[in-house]
Amino acid sequence: MRNLKIDGRRLWDDIHDTGKIGGTAKGGVRRLTLSDEDRQVRDWFRTQCEALGCTVTVDGVGNMFALRPGKNPNLPPVAMGSHLDTQPSGGKFDGVLGVLSGLEALRTLHDNGVETEAPFMLVNWTNEEGSRFLPAVMGSGAHAGALAVAAVLAKTDRDGVTFGTALDAIGYRGTMPVGAQKFSAYFELHIEQGPYLEAEGKTIGVVTGVQGMRWFNGRCTGVDGHAGATPMHRRADALLTVARLVDRIDAIARSHGPHAVGTIGELTPAAPSINVVQGEVSFTIDLRDPNDAVLEVMEAEVRAAAAELAARNGTTIEIERIWRAPPIPFAAECVAAVREAAADSQFSTRDCISGASHDAAYMQSVCPSAMIFIPSAEGLSHNELESSSFEDCAAGAQVLLDAVLRYDARLGGR
Ligand SMILES: [Zn+2]
Repeated sequence: MRNLKIDGRRLWDDIHDTGKIGGTAKGGVRRLTLSDEDRQVRDWFRTQCEALGCTVTVDGVGNMFALRPGKNPNLPPVAMGSHLDTQPSGGKFDGVLGVLSGLEALRTLHDNGVETEAPFMLVNWTNEEGSRFLPAVMGSGAHAGALAVAAVLAKTDRDGVTFGTALDAIGYRGTMPVGAQKFSAYFELHIEQGPYLEAEGKTIGVVTGVQGMRWFNGRCTGVDGHAGATPMHRRADALLTVARLVDRIDAIARSHGPHAVGTIGELTPAAPSINVVQGEVSFTIDLRDPNDAVLEVMEAEVRAAAAELAARNGTTIEIERIWRAPPIPFAAECVAAVREAAADSQFSTRDCISGASHDAAYMQSVCPSAMIFIPSAEGLSHNELESSSFEDCAAGAQVLLDAVLRYDARLGGR
């Protein structure tokens, strides 16, 4: 394979030039999905892709697909992508880096006159952030069939504007049926948004998967009592039961290794009052781990601890699972392409599990996929001060290009 070098300076300039579209005084970006700023950056993206001879199509929820032909038009494209929308007080790198690095990869192929085996494709997914319209990761979720298109179009923002109306207002409701585009594989470069790469001085995160998650609603019932007149041995204090459960969940998560986390993030007495022993408390539980078997054990341990603590305290407890997202392992052949690409350039690497969800998680359900992380300064993201270095952005883009080329070479049987 030829040794193609991406142009880190050109990528860096693109990151900062597009950062002016919705740029904030603190150096961040506010580019809410389907806003006029989103339209401007989409127009820019289309122009840049067309200048490279790519054909840009748009589907019915505004996902944008730039196609660069390959030798074999019968092969579905090898794709790169991420998102150009941001949080209300977002940074210049979250999502943007993945799209602009894919653009830099296409430019490098173009400048060097490289013909790939499969067509290549660069994708800008609509509404990854979920800040204006819930849920997040919407465009790729609709593409993967996890979200119904009609339901997506009917979502409303805080002002009552529907997704469909906003999409039409910026002129990005395309004619391609959602989900019609097929892929050979999908690769996404993203900032880590966490602390590990920077802390360990590594350049490239080889992302092996996205962790699983289980959410629960709980309710503990005891007996309301007078805080002054109810002796301690006569109490059925629901708040005390759940307080003890907070501590237990912390211990359970810590006992399951470095990735497991467990949180009670809401604990709400039904009628809070300074002089009342609380007889009814509702709460939530959030459990996460990359391994579903570990999550299964954690859930069982939490249920057992809750039952034991409730009984010991003369209270009863109910826990209902309201959501379950299984862990998503990325495709071994794509992860290998990333690992080999990083080794090609002798970048230091670390295997990562993504704590956040990404477009690549939905894509893995429709084609082999993988992700590449680069360090986030101080692990900051969804923050105007979010930053990554020039060198790390260039390294990430180089690994992205080399990974898609490696995958393409494999498709061509070379
Ligand atoms: Zn993102």
